[in-house]
Amino acid sequence: MLNQDRSPEKAVRAALGKLESIEREVIIRYYFMGQGLRQIADTLELSVYSVRSRLNGGTLKLRSLLARFVSRKYGLRIRKRKSCPLCENSRFDHIILNCGPIGPWKPVFKQMEAVGFEGVKSVRTIIHHYEKHLNGGEWDE
Ligand SMILES: [Zn+2]
Repeated sequence: MLNQDRSPEKAVRAALGKLESIEREVIIRYYFMGQGLRQIADTLELSVYSVRSRLNGGTLKLRSLLARFVSRKYGLRIRKRKSCPLCENSRFDHIILNCGPIGPWKPVFKQMEAVGFEGVKSVRTIIHHYEKHLNGGEWDE
């Protein structure tokens, strides 16, 4: 358990320990070692899409793992964020990236429907994922 008497370092370390090892690796390289997405991709022999989605997924997990600690220690309320179905599964990321920034998005949505991809209810979800999670300033190299 993350308790409020812990130092931030210990809390972060404990939370990192709960991630998948590949997420932890990507987060440490990006946030602690200052490496870029391309450099991480080359080092770990992954695609940039894959690195980006691990970084995004791992960061969301850390956010929720550390929410209680942050709220007790600093009195900050962390709003719960709905998880993004597309961040949880990166198999369409390359198609989505090829469609951006203007689409058309409908064919991508149809393709997801055709394979029974759960959770994506409309084209808006895809656009949001593209703009905020795949191509948002936060993840730029
Ligand atoms: Zn997303």
